[in-house]
Amino acid sequence: MSTNDLHNIKYKRKPDWLKIKLPTTYNFTKVDKVLKTYGLHTICVSGKCPNLGECWDAGTATIMILGDICTRACKFCAVKTGKPLPPDYEEPRRVAEAINQLGLQHVVLTSVDRDDLPDKGSGLWALTIKTIKRFNPWVTIEALIPDFDAVPEYLDKVIEAKPEIISHNLETVRRLTPILRSRATYERSLKVLKNIADSGITAKSGIMVGLGETTDEVLQTMDDLLSVGVKIITIGQYLQPTPKHYPVQEYIKPEVFEYYRRVGLEKGFEYVESGPLVRSSYHAERQVKKQRIDLRNLRPDQAPEIPNTQPLENIDLKKKLLE
Ligand code: SF4
Repeated sequence: MSTNDLHNIKYKRKPDWLKIKLPTTYNFTKVDKVLKTYGLHTICVSGKCPNLGECWDAGTATIMILGDICTRACKFCAVKTGKPLPPDYEEPRRVAEAINQLGLQHVVLTSVDRDDLPDKGSGLWALTIKTIKRFNPWVTIEALIPDFDAVPEYLDKVIEAKPEIISHNLETVRRLTPILRSRATYERSLKVLKNIADSGITAKSGIMVGLGETTDEVLQTMDDLLSVGVKIITIGQYLQPTPKHYPVQEYIKPEVFEYYRRVGLEKGFEYVESGPLVRSSYHAERQVKKQRIDLRNLRPDQAPEIPNTQPLENIDLKKKLLE
C-alpha cells in the first residue's frame, strides 16, 4: 500500500487512537499546585493539550512565559489573543523556583508572541533561561521560541543564554502557512531555524498534520527543515481546539505517522517523534537524552556550587534585564 493510499482513508469522527489518558496520580495534583503557587501559565492548559493527563502524571509540564495573551491569532491555536499585560520581571524567578519544586531534570519553556514589546520578549526569554540555570544548574532546557520577526539580535539573546535545544515550530507545510499562521511566514521560520542551527545549538521543529496537506508536502517540509540544519522533528495530529478554529481535514492513521517517522530518520533527522498525540514538547526529555546531552542525573543537593553568585532573592531581575 502506498502512502497516498493510506491518506485516502479519511475519518470524520475522532478515531479511537486519539483517546486521551485521564490524570490518575499524585504527581498531577502536585504539578497543578506548584504551577498555581507560582502563578505560572502552561501551554498544556492554554493550548488545550490532549496529553495533559499523561505529562502532568509524569510530573512535567511546559511553562509558558510572558503571559497567556498572544499578539497573534493563528487559526489552529487555542491560546487567547489580544493585548497582553506588561512583562512581569519577577516571572523568571518564579519559573526557576517552580522547576526546583517540581524536581525537573529537563524543562521545555515556551511563550506567547509579544509583538507589542520592543525586543519581542527576547530579553525576558534570555533572563528566564539564565535564572533557571543559575538556580537549577543540573537542569537542561528546551526553549520553544516564537519567530521574534527573525531579527538576529533578538534571537542571539536566547542563543547566548545557552539552552540545550532551541525549537521553533514550522506548524504546517508551505502552502497552508498563509491560511493558518498569523504574521509568521514559512521562509521566516526557516531563517530562524537556520540561525539556531548555525549557532551550534540543537535546532528542533514541529508540524501538525491533518490540516489538508499531502504526503509529498510533508516530505518536502522535512527536506526544507533538514536543509537549514534542523536535527529533531515532531509530527502530530492537529485537533480543532474550539468550533471557531480551523476544522480538522483528516485524521491521519497511526501507520502514516510511523511512515513519517521512518522516512524522517532515513532522510537524516537524529530524532523523529511522530504519532497522533505528539506535540512539540511531548517526550522532550527523551530527545535531549538521545542528543547525548549530559543530564548528569544530579539531585538538587548534589548540584555543584555556583561561583560568585548572589542569592537569587537579592538579584534585581528587572535591572538585570535592562543592563
Ligand atoms: S505534550 Fe507538551 S503541552 Fe502537551 S501536556 Fe505534555 S508538556 Fe504540556
